[in-house]
Amino acid sequence: MAKKDTRYNRLIICSFCGKNSNQVESIVAGPDVYICNECVENASEIVRQDLSNRVEEATKSVTSPAEIHKVLSEFVIDQDAAKKAVAVAVYNHYKRIDAIQLPGDDVVLEKSNILMIGPTGTGKTLIAQTMAKSLKVPFTIADATTLTEAGYVGEDVENILVRLLQAADYDVERAERGIIYVDELDKIARKSGNPSITRDVSGEGVQQGLLKILEGTVAAIPPKGGRKHPEQNLINMNTKNILFICGGAFDGLKDIIAQRIGRNALGFGAKIADEKKTNSELLMQSLVPSDLIKFGLIPELVGRLPIATTLSELSEKALMSILIEPKNALVKQYKRMLELDGVMLEFEEAALRQVVKEASNRKMGARALRAVMEEFMVNVMFEIPSMKDVKHCLITEAVVLNKDRPIYNYQEMKKPA
Ligand code: ADP
Repeated sequence: MAKKDTRYNRLIICSFCGKNSNQVESIVAGPDVYICNECVENASEIVRQDLSNRVEEATKSVTSPAEIHKVLSEFVIDQDAAKKAVAVAVYNHYKRIDAIQLPGDDVVLEKSNILMIGPTGTGKTLIAQTMAKSLKVPFTIADATTLTEAGYVGEDVENILVRLLQAADYDVERAERGIIYVDELDKIARKSGNPSITRDVSGEGVQQGLLKILEGTVAAIPPKGGRKHPEQNLINMNTKNILFICGGAFDGLKDIIAQRIGRNALGFGAKIADEKKTNSELLMQSLVPSDLIKFGLIPELVGRLPIATTLSELSEKALMSILIEPKNALVKQYKRMLELDGVMLEFEEAALRQVVKEASNRKMGARALRAVMEEFMVNVMFEIPSMKDVKHCLITEAVVLNKDRPIYNYQEMKKPA
């Protein structure tokens, strides 16, 4: 180690602490600056500390899974397992994105896209949507059945990214942290789980296309969507931090699981595990990735959906809660609508029970609630604006059952407590 700077023939002094080369073990020279071994060590500690603080700050910017779950519960009734799984996955997702890789840290946090399995109208889309809204990240929904392989007639997989970009007001950086909900993933399964028997090329091709954006790629997308053509300016979008939530009913998956584990084993375990759970809920709890492959998803795609959660059929009790409890419950919405016409709307409990019963018969989950309500509310909303003096409207069971007229009252009624 040179004790003197040969350029000037004088004692070297650390530019940071002022010690000279005789007082420290070594000094590194840069252009017109010097740093001693002690200052190198101190500086590296400061940098490490600063990085750790930034990791902590970044993590704090995403609320806790419990808080995410709480927000979800304001809108989504029941489906606790799915709400928890999604809350944890989403929390971890944004923690991972914001985490700064510390030097020497070999643990790479991998993206965990989510698969939600459950019958139609049970809240899959609602969970994804509420999630995105509460986190204020761009969100878009894609229907897997409308997707085709690039180059075929239909919607290119990459068009999903265009829609996310549009949802982010063309802010590429925001879009790259967004959430995409892919609905009806089960409908692009290949027809046979065994690729060598019958290959359903289109389904598999779309799965391959999805896989590419799910695992992370830089896609060049036309900002306005549609087909790419040579003169067009393309925008590069990195999908590595986009969270994909996929959903589907996966009819028949239960049979695949039952076949694998054997019905007797289930019957035996069922009693011990949880008497309240239905057979099909218990079966779904035993889901393993190979079941999804047998169903017709390609193994690579299953590998990219490490978190699978199930939603159950909604009970009549849950349907009733959905009608009246969530922040934007249907009953609240209709009440608000008529309030704007100066009319107080009320429902007999028997009327609501009848709505639930009819909706339940339609086997469309909570989706049927709006349809059933609309069938009689349309008449009410049609006539009320022309009935100037009506102050109160009571929906009775007969309104729901026989499309009778509601009971109108022309005097102010006391607001129910
Ligand atoms: P899917 O499971 O088919 O994606 P959605 O989430 O689109 O079903 O549900 C359709 C509609 O039904 C939603 O807009 C919402 O109003 C209602 N809904 C469904 N499930 C629930 C639930 N668990 N809690 C509250 N509302 C629900």
